[in-house]
Amino acid sequence: MDISVVVPLYNEEESLPELAAWIERVMKENGFSYEILFINDGSTDRSLEVIKRLASANPAIHAVSFSRNYGKSPALNTGFERAKGDVVITMDADLQDSPDEIPELYRMITEEDYDLVSGWKKKRYDPLSKTIPTKLFNATARKVSGIKNLHDFNCGLKAYRRDVIKHIEVYGDMHRYIPYLAKNAGYKKIGEKVVHHQARKYGTTKFGLDRFVNGYLDLGTLWFQSKFGIKPMHLFGLLGSLMFLIGFIAVFVVLLLKVIAMCSDTYNFWVTKSVYFYLSLAFMVLGVQFFCTGLIGELITRNSAERNNYLIAEEF
Ligand code: UDP
Ligand code: MG
Repeated sequence: MDISVVVPLYNEEESLPELAAWIERVMKENGFSYEILFINDGSTDRSLEVIKRLASANPAIHAVSFSRNYGKSPALNTGFERAKGDVVITMDADLQDSPDEIPELYRMITEEDYDLVSGWKKKRYDPLSKTIPTKLFNATARKVSGIKNLHDFNCGLKAYRRDVIKHIEVYGDMHRYIPYLAKNAGYKKIGEKVVHHQARKYGTTKFGLDRFVNGYLDLGTLWFQSKFGIKPMHLFGLLGSLMFLIGFIAVFVVLLLKVIAMCSDTYNFWVTKSVYFYLSLAFMVLGVQFFCTGLIGELITRNSAERNNYLIAEEF
């Protein structure tokens, strides 16, 4: 099979017939063998009935329906597990992404040998409250992930070589960072294609402004995982040791001050009045805590099934 189109959807009943017809038309015109995987993420409208009707008319349409709303990432991950096509394309269900981009995305993966091609909504049809923070978000994501050529990490329209999606796990809200997940899994050839974007025709957006807060937190998590995921002690041990050392030095300073005070007959010097007393307390406690966090991290890593997962490019 040439292409699997994975479509996560949550309450998109109005858009689905148009989307399915559009994808079918593009596939037919280009002679692709394909499947459409609708992942119904616990919709409370009539989306599921619409999908059932569409699937009965076209055997290439398959669906998974969640019992409740889990989020876009779990929906994508479920689609990825089931996808059978050589190239896997994800797109939003709200008609903001154009199926007309599919042939070129397919060509980039199969002929130009990209692992992943991400869409870039260069001209966006979204409100300013979304486009401006998005620019900032993408700049940070580029810096942190080291994928310097991507302008639009969170574009719903992306294409993957099948191998890529079988080796990454999208969970939580990590769909924003799939290129970073792919890079961490060892896939280096990540490209971009300017794609046509449309304003939402039906329904409303499913993400509020909390997307930016959560987006930054997730970026922090991924950064930590990629740098220290299998060696947490390298970060916590270093921080803990440094803090402990500062605390230890502060203890000596307090003692020295006390001795000096005693030798010069200033008996009213109280160690608890010295700032070094508090520094020594705080830093030694924090240091030990950081150190222990690192140790616990190491124990967790040691038991992780992922600790020896390497993507082997070649073997002789
Ligand atoms: N979506 C989903 N589960 C959710 C939220 C969204 O499957 O919990 C789907 C949604 O139906 C759409 C896609 O993810 O197909 C992108 O969502 P949306 O268009 O609301 O995001 P935006 O374009 O505003 O970033
Ligand atoms: Mg949308």
